[in-house]
Amino acid sequence: MHEIALCNSLVDLIRDQQRQRGFRRVRRVIVEVGVLGHVDPHALDFAFDVEARNSPAEGAVLEIREIQGRAWCMDCSRLVTIARRGEACPDCGGFGLIVEQGEELRLKELEVI
Ligand SMILES: [Zn+2]
Repeated sequence: MHEIALCNSLVDLIRDQQRQRGFRRVRRVIVEVGVLGHVDPHALDFAFDVEARNSPAEGAVLEIREIQGRAWCMDCSRLVTIARRGEACPDCGGFGLIVEQGEELRLKELEVI
């Protein structure tokens, strides 16, 4: 379950932020998750609760915003939207796609006290 590893890095990032900004606690964590990254939002939520224990983010609400998958189609020479990796281009049906967006997990915002 790679959600554990993701949340572990997320909590590390939050600790870094705390050192830099000096807040006491985190109330809400907003992350952007690409739909192509095989991240299960429920598993992520659960893993976050576990990993955040004894950290400034303990008890914080994890808000997950999905980012759609975008890929460059070499046949159409433009960006297209895809729902999962390995999918054909919705316009030409070709498979010459280079994924540009949708695999990342990014810390977007921290609501702190
Ligand atoms: Zn295409």
